[in-house]
Amino acid sequence: MRKIFSKIAPFIVLLTAWFIAMKSEGMGIAMRSLLDVLPYVFALLSIVLSIWFQNSNYFFYSCFILVAYMFMSATSDKSPVIIEITKNLSVFLPVNALWLNFSQERGITSSYGRNKAIVISAQMIWLLIIAIGKSKISASEAADQAVINLKVPAIALFILCIFVLFMDYLLRSRYSSLIYVAILCTSFITLHFAHRPVIVAVFTTASFVIILMALLEISYSLAFYDSLTGVLSRRALEQELLKLGNRYCIAIIDIDHFKHINDNFGHDVGDEVLKMIAAVLCQEAGKSKVFRYGGEEFVVLFTGMSYNNVVNELDKIRRTIAQRSFILRDKNRPREKPKTVFRNVSNSDKSSINITVSIGVAQKNSQLKTPYDVIKKADEALYKSKNSGRNCITKA
Ligand code: GH3
Ligand code: MG
Ligand code: MG
Repeated sequence: MRKIFSKIAPFIVLLTAWFIAMKSEGMGIAMRSLLDVLPYVFALLSIVLSIWFQNSNYFFYSCFILVAYMFMSATSDKSPVIIEITKNLSVFLPVNALWLNFSQERGITSSYGRNKAIVISAQMIWLLIIAIGKSKISASEAADQAVINLKVPAIALFILCIFVLFMDYLLRSRYSSLIYVAILCTSFITLHFAHRPVIVAVFTTASFVIILMALLEISYSLAFYDSLTGVLSRRALEQELLKLGNRYCIAIIDIDHFKHINDNFGHDVGDEVLKMIAAVLCQEAGKSKVFRYGGEEFVVLFTGMSYNNVVNELDKIRRTIAQRSFILRDKNRPREKPKTVFRNVSNSDKSSINITVSIGVAQKNSQLKTPYDVIKKADEALYKSKNSGRNCITKA
């Protein structure tokens, strides 16, 4: 639910901005003055927050939008200047969105950050040169250019960039691509109404609000999701345990002989195995929640299910993992599937590894009063599974 909301929220901001912009004609002086300062307030917030998180992409994009806004509001009554500024922004804004979205995030103060700063500053200087150059043209010369109309190439560039970003979001589920899609929609409307300062202020504020939401989403994900496997983190589990009612079961799932996998095939193969196990757990766990509890241990939290059903579900998960071979992706890996599948983790020439897990499960009852008591019991049950030969499940 939260994930769905975070995806539609940028577009709710866009619609809200549209609604406010429509009402802007009838607004009083006080309201209009407030709208004039809002872009600066939200720009400051998104710049400070992006520095705080060392997110160079949102930092430079925020700086660029702020400078674009300053140019547009300073020149909105000078027709030839605003037309030229808008023409240039209609190239810079979509191209920067595409470039920054696909560029690597390596902080603001690194050499990567410095290179980004050079490119963005060069664009700002270019805008300044254009503004100074065009301000010399007399108003009468440009009197017939009072209305901004984005030219066909600019519209095509916006559509192309939005399409590429949206496809990237669909294919790779990258949240930042969706954020840039929403920002480009607000930027397009801003440029289209560049000669109307109130509308420019409203949609520029909307761009900063969308960036702020993206930054908050990043900080939430860092806190509550495991960066390697993508499942919920231990911190998220601690939060979840506070909300539990009286009917729940907790299972601890531990990969068998995981140290051997690291020792024989390397840490990166170990990481891939962790991701594979997390993916299987999420796939098979249905409505229950999966957390990474520690190194190679996962917790699955079941609520509102009978103990027998939980044990059956877990045994299904155990069997699925045991039956699935993990194919090694090394440089010499043949393109075709090998005819022989080896099933022993101890030999390093093998092309596939068989992974198994041991499981301990416990349910809330009158003796186990807190979720931590249930986890402790599940851990004891896991220990029994390990001592019973592994690849099995033990009920507390
Ligand atoms: P058992 O069957 O008894 O559980 O044996 P085991 O080898 O799985 O257990 P042990 O606790 O001895 O080893 C766990 C290993 O998990 C040790 C540690 O290096 C490795 N590990 C922990 N976190 C990570 C990680 O994020 N990535 C990788 N690749 N390895 C990790
Ligand atoms: Mg362990
Ligand atoms: Mg283990």
